[in-house]
Amino acid sequence: MGNLTNIDKQFVANTYNRFPIEISHGKGAAVYDTDGKRYIDMGTGIGVTAFGIADDAWKDAVIEQLSKVQHMSNLYYTEPCARLAKLLCEKTGMKKVFFSNSGAEANECAIKVARKYAAEKKGKDYYTIITLENSFHGRTLTTLAATGQEHYHELFCPLTPGFVHTPANDFEALKALALQNKTAAIMIECIQGEGGVIALDADFVKKTAAFAKENDIILIVDEVQTGNGRSGELYAYMNYGIEPDVVSTAKGLGGGLPIGAALLGEKTENVLGFGDHGSTFGGNPVSAAGAVSIIERIDEKLLSDVREKSGYIFRELGSAPGVESVSGMGLMIGIKTKKPAGDVVRACMENGVLCLTAKDKVRLLPSLNMPMEILKEAIAIIKNACKED
Ligand SMILES: *Cc1c(COP(=O)(O)O)cnc(C)c1O
Repeated sequence: MGNLTNIDKQFVANTYNRFPIEISHGKGAAVYDTDGKRYIDMGTGIGVTAFGIADDAWKDAVIEQLSKVQHMSNLYYTEPCARLAKLLCEKTGMKKVFFSNSGAEANECAIKVARKYAAEKKGKDYYTIITLENSFHGRTLTTLAATGQEHYHELFCPLTPGFVHTPANDFEALKALALQNKTAAIMIECIQGEGGVIALDADFVKKTAAFAKENDIILIVDEVQTGNGRSGELYAYMNYGIEPDVVSTAKGLGGGLPIGAALLGEKTENVLGFGDHGSTFGGNPVSAAGAVSIIERIDEKLLSDVREKSGYIFRELGSAPGVESVSGMGLMIGIKTKKPAGDVVRACMENGVLCLTAKDKVRLLPSLNMPMEILKEAIAIIKNACKED
């Protein structure tokens, strides 16, 4: 390890337990370290570089916008932001978009929308938001409160009040909790990402959506990780055939630049008015231009390729020695291995493949357009790493 590691360790806050790799550059599905070693990137910066590293079309869109205007504040109209909002609405049927810079901020917006809607419709005491145990919604004090995993909360209390958690896939428990509180919203990830890549049961999701609609409770679907083609549909709620009132997203949306979005449906499109919410960088023209290039290219052909590659990974790993089970959807995959996940990830790294973990699983979030031959190369190495000696 070189100088870079030493400088980082001395001057960057200790919040990340980094792997001992100094990344220098990359192209498509491959990245290189400062010693020139190649790695296949099966993590895409946690589901961010949706079309791979330094993707040409994305880069062209970003550079073109960069040389026109890099930022103008939301006091003026700029083209990429308007184009991106239109594109997202046309592809989803949602009505309006608020842009932020991150997933947590997209969720903050979703929560504010739900609380204002309920305050105006039912009364200010209708502020409770129900989320699921084992969920992950972000690191701000409010999205931490939404996150149904105590170990993230411990030394940061008091968090924003008004959040209660209920077990995933238990509709009767959710319904009871929603009726016993003055509930503004129910917030779910269709596939719990940080919680271990666990797809919710279709029956639970459908019943929850119907219950929310009947009771005029806002349904927020957190698509920060599952969205933008990752699940094999444009958004994972589409895999479930439900209609959320708010969809929050980020990660893959920007293809590598920071941007988040809260997509607002018919009920919620006009909840926020002038001055109710805002963000200096939100909808930045360079990030938005990159995002347009990403969203434009997530078409039926790409989504069907995602599903095909997903099928390949499930088949290959599902029957592999040392693998207990494979979970997830599309190109968001969790592998429960007999060996500790950390050991498998380290073995993969040594052999030139970068994987993630989620709870006790190995997690794969490869680029949506990863060429089949590179995917095969990576899966062979992962299979080998899962084998017990
Ligand atoms: C990553 C993630 C977030 C937080 O996004 P940031 O951009 O890190 O703020 C929120 N929700 C889900 C489901 C995520 O996976």
